[in-house]
Amino acid sequence: MVARKRIELQGVVQGVGFRPFVYRIAGRCDIRGRVLNSSDGVVIEAEGSDTGLTRFLSILTTELPPLARIDRLAVSDQEPRGDRNFAIEHSVSAHGRFALVPPDVATCAECEADFRDPANRRFGYPFTNCTNCGPRYTIIQDVPYDRENTTMAAFPMCARCQAEYEDPLDRRFHAEPNACPDCGPSLTVAVDAVRGFLRAGEILAIKGLGGFHLVCDATNEHAVSLLRERKRRSGKAFAIMVRTLAIAERLCVLTDADRALLAGTRRPIVLLPRRENSGVAPSTAPGNTRLGVMLPYTPLHHLLFDDFLDALVMTSGNMSEEPIVSRNEDAWPRLHTLADSFLLHNRAIHARVDDSVFQTFEGREYPVRRSRGYAPDPIALRMPLAEVLACGGELKNTLCLTKDRYAILSQHIGDLENLETLTFFRETLAHLQRFFRVSPVAVAHDLHPNYLSTRFALRESGLQPIGIQHHHAHIASCMADNGIEGRVIGVALDGTGYGTDGKIWGCEFLVCDFLDFERRGHLRYVPLAGGDSAVRQPWRSALAYLKDAFGERASSLALPLFRDIPPKQLRVVDTMLARGLQTVETSSCGRLFDAVSSLVGIRHETTYEGQAAMELEAAATDAGAPGAAYPFAIEDGDRFQLDLRPTIEAIVRDFIDGVAAGDISARFHLTMAHAIAASCDRIRASHGLTRVCLSGGTFQNLRLLGHAVTLLREGGFEVFIHTRVPTNDGGLALGQAVIASCRLQSESVLGQHGW
Ligand code: ZN
Ligand code: ZN
Ligand code: FE
Repeated sequence: MVARKRIELQGVVQGVGFRPFVYRIAGRCDIRGRVLNSSDGVVIEAEGSDTGLTRFLSILTTELPPLARIDRLAVSDQEPRGDRNFAIEHSVSAHGRFALVPPDVATCAECEADFRDPANRRFGYPFTNCTNCGPRYTIIQDVPYDRENTTMAAFPMCARCQAEYEDPLDRRFHAEPNACPDCGPSLTVAVDAVRGFLRAGEILAIKGLGGFHLVCDATNEHAVSLLRERKRRSGKAFAIMVRTLAIAERLCVLTDADRALLAGTRRPIVLLPRRENSGVAPSTAPGNTRLGVMLPYTPLHHLLFDDFLDALVMTSGNMSEEPIVSRNEDAWPRLHTLADSFLLHNRAIHARVDDSVFQTFEGREYPVRRSRGYAPDPIALRMPLAEVLACGGELKNTLCLTKDRYAILSQHIGDLENLETLTFFRETLAHLQRFFRVSPVAVAHDLHPNYLSTRFALRESGLQPIGIQHHHAHIASCMADNGIEGRVIGVALDGTGYGTDGKIWGCEFLVCDFLDFERRGHLRYVPLAGGDSAVRQPWRSALAYLKDAFGERASSLALPLFRDIPPKQLRVVDTMLARGLQTVETSSCGRLFDAVSSLVGIRHETTYEGQAAMELEAAATDAGAPGAAYPFAIEDGDRFQLDLRPTIEAIVRDFIDGVAAGDISARFHLTMAHAIAASCDRIRASHGLTRVCLSGGTFQNLRLLGHAVTLLREGGFEVFIHTRVPTNDGGLALGQAVIASCRLQSESVLGQHGW
C-alpha cells in the first residue's frame, strides 16, 4: 500500500544541512518524492509504504543534523503520484510567513581537519566552511537563504566547489558560502606574515566574521597597554582568544557548563574566574578577578595561532562608544590611529555583529551580551503575538520584532548615544524587517523622554507609540525568557530606569503581568547630585548615602573619601545635596553599590559603567564566615520602602573598626539578598504570589544572584532568572515587545466585546 504525505517543517531547518539529511534518510527508508526550502521552512513530499513512512517520520525528528531544530511539524495526506526517485528541489519564495535566518556558526572539526591537511585542496584556506559551519547572518542579504542572496554571490564557484555544492552526499551540499582558494574570498596579507607582526608586538586590525577586531599578543604587556592607551579605554577588560580549550583551562577555572559553552558551535566570550600567574599581560583585565575568554570560531582565527602565540587580545575594532567597523573602506579612516597593520579580506559583511558575552550560573547559560552566534535566532514564545517593534533602552541597546510565536531580538547594537550607533540601529531594523517580513502595527519604547530610542519611536517610526516602564519591561523580559505567564513578583535591580513619577528608579519590587504592573515597594529614595557625573563619580553617591544615614555628622567620619576627594569638590556636592540643587531622587541599585564601593575605599571614580560595583563584587571574600547580614528596615506605607540606613551605619562602623573591605563587601551582598527575600515575603503575604522573577543589570553580579536565589528558594519561592537574553538592558526590548503586543491584543479583545 503506497501513501504520500506532505510534511511542513519550521524551525532552524535552512542552511544547516537539512535537505541532504532528508535525502539520505529517504534513501534509507525507500521513500520517493521531494524536499525543498520554502520561505518559512522546509516542505517534504514523501511517498512510500506505510512502514517506510512511519520510519522516515521517526528518523526525521530524532536524528537531526547538529545545528537543526524543529519547532513545528505538520503532516497531511496527499494523492500518491508514483514518483521514481527522491529529489532536492530549488527554493520557492512565498510571502507572509518567514524562514529562520540562521546565526553564524563556528568552524566545525571536519573543516578544521581540511585546512590543517597539507594534502587537502583547502590547506591553509581561511574561508573554509560547510553545511555545518561558517558565516550565515553576517552575509545574508535576503531570504530565502540561497547563495545569490548573500555577499558570496560575488564569488562564482569553481567546477570543483560547484560539484560539492550539487552532491547530496557531500558535506558541502548547498553550503551557500562554499569556497576554496581557486574561487573564494582571499586575504590582503598572508597569515604567516600576520603571525610575525603579532609576535613582534604589533597591534593589528583584522577583519573577521561580523566586523573588525583589534588584535595583539595577550602575553605582551607593552602591546596590550599600548592598545589600551590608543583605544582610550582606561579600565575596561579586553577579551582574549586562546588557541585551545586546554589553554583556557590553564588560565581560568572552568565548570562543565563553561567548557561546553566555550567549545560549542556559538562560541561566545565566556567570563571565567582567572588563575593567578596565568601569564596574561596585566593590562588585559586590570582589577578584574575574571577573564573574558573565547576559542577560535573562524578558520582565519585558527590560523593566527602557532606555538609561540597562545592567547590574543581580541577587542571590537572601534573607537570606544562607536559601533564595530565592518567595511574595508571604513577600516583605514576609523582605525589607523589604533592599529599598526591591517589584515583585510574581500568578503563583504552585510550585518555587523559583535562577539557575544556569556556567564554560566548553576550550570546554565546566563547571557551578558547576546550577539554573534545567537542573533537573529528567534526566541520561541508561548503565545502568538501582534507584530510590533520594540526599540529597547539606551545602553547596550538591542531592538526586537515580534511575529507569530517568535520574538526576534537583534544583535547587540551598543550604547545609543551617538549618530553612528543610531545608524547601526536603523540598519539592523531594516535587515530584520526584511528577513522576517514583519510589518509592525505599533512601536514600544522606554518612558525616558531623552533616549534616542524613544525619539526614534516617537518621531521617526511613524507607528503608534506604546510607552513601557523600564523595570516592568525587565520583568516581562524575564517572564518571556522563561515562558511563564500570569502575575509574578518582579525584583528589578539596575542602575537607571525612568519612573512613572519622573524619578530615577532602580531597586524595584513589582507585582506584574504582561499587561500592567504595580510598584509594591522600592529602595528608599536618596538625592543624587549632578545626574551623569554621579554615575562617573561613585563618591557622590557615597556622600548622599552618608548624609542620609548620619546627617551633619557625616563629614566628620574617618572614611577614605574625605581623604581622597578634594575638599572643594566635597563642599560643592554637599551644598547641592543640602539645597536640592541639580539633584534627582533615585532608588537606583547601581548607585547604592557605587556608594558602598566608595565608602570602603575601593573606587571613588569610574572609567566605565558598572566599574565600582564590579570591583566591589570582585573584592568580596569567602575567607571565614561572612557573618550575618547587616541590619535593614522595611517601612510600610502605600508602597513599602527598603531603608538601608542601618546597613550604611553598620558598614561605616565596621570600616572604622578596621574590618577589611572584602569582608564588608561579602556581608553587604548577603544583606541585599536578605532584603530581596524579605521584600518578596511581604508581597507574598499581601498578594499570595510565589513566583519571583529576577531581572536588571545588577543581577549580572553572580554573588548577589547566588545569595538571592538560595534565600528565595529556601523561603519557598519559585525563582526565575534569565537564560536566553541578557538580564541587563540588552534584554529590555524583549519585555517591551511582549507587553506592547499583549496590550494591543487585549484592547482588540475588549473592542470586539463592545466594552
Ligand atoms: Zn564545517
Ligand atoms: Zn572553488
Ligand atoms: Fe535597566
